[in-house]
Amino acid sequence: MTDGVGPRASGEAAGREPDGADRLPAAATVADRPLGAVTTVAEGVVELDTMLGGWERVTAGYLIEGPEPVLVETGSQSSVPVLLAQLASLGIGPTDLAGVVVTHIHLDHAGGVGDVARAFPGATVYVHEKGARHLVDPARLVDSAARVYGPLLDSLYGRLEPTPADRVHVLADGEEIRVGPNRSLVAVESPGHAKHHVGLHDTTSGVLFAGDAVGVRLPDVGVLRPATPPPDFDLDQALHSLRRFAERQPAALALAHYGLVAQPLDLLEEATGTLRQWAEVAEAAFRRGEDIASALSAAFNPPPGALPDEHRQRLDTLNGVHSNAAGLHRWLSAREASDPGT
Ligand SMILES: [Zn+2]
Repeated sequence: MTDGVGPRASGEAAGREPDGADRLPAAATVADRPLGAVTTVAEGVVELDTMLGGWERVTAGYLIEGPEPVLVETGSQSSVPVLLAQLASLGIGPTDLAGVVVTHIHLDHAGGVGDVARAFPGATVYVHEKGARHLVDPARLVDSAARVYGPLLDSLYGRLEPTPADRVHVLADGEEIRVGPNRSLVAVESPGHAKHHVGLHDTTSGVLFAGDAVGVRLPDVGVLRPATPPPDFDLDQALHSLRRFAERQPAALALAHYGLVAQPLDLLEEATGTLRQWAEVAEAAFRRGEDIASALSAAFNPPPGALPDEHRQRLDTLNGVHSNAAGLHRWLSAREASDPGT
């Protein structure tokens, strides 16, 4: 049930795409795109490689199996054809999916929500209160994404179709999303990366779906980096969210970028340390009036040649120092404005 898609897809991808042509247009149909791997990673937890840009192991969705199956993250709109094919391969028909939940509304997590809601008319769409109105009326969110992503909005991510308001359920902290009589996902409010961020803790597997709150660790890169984008990043909130995750003693963490981490407390400790280090480097540059992105690159970017170009490109696209620097600069400026004495 959970094998067969990945290896064939990988072979096709390797066979067809010339070097450097792995950024497929959003309009590509599923027949043109590699199908990402579908892998059971914990009890009733299926990892779906949603293949942002045709890249493997960059964006993950997760299907939580049960009498009322729930999808965690749709990925971007450009991932929807792959995602629908994966769900079909798992036997999830149009009336079978009970819920779709997004950890936050950035387009690499929620861009596919409108299309997925249309494909699964019985599914409830779960989202943090501060994200709900943007799923119903995405114009402002898409406008601001266009400013951040530039041409990559259409060539890489795609946009966001509206979801009817009566399909959207606002999640409160601690609320449970039912997957079956003995299984639910508990919402863990976790701002810092974004003010509309929630983690989801599975009561059966113990896996905590961490979205971007813990950072980005691509398996092909291997290094954990914090994700501190504008406009919401807040260090104290981000650190508090990591403590909340640790207090829940999860059995594992599932990262959106990317995959299951079996030593959750070690990773949460590492995330706390790296977040503090990045903030310290950014703050020192900020106080000296220097460019934060240059300071972060000098301190944390892998040296030239340490990473194959394609992996560096994926990391830079998804979690580049410029986005992180912009978020840290905005946070430092706001803090200084609110308390000039610090
Ligand atoms: Zn993300």
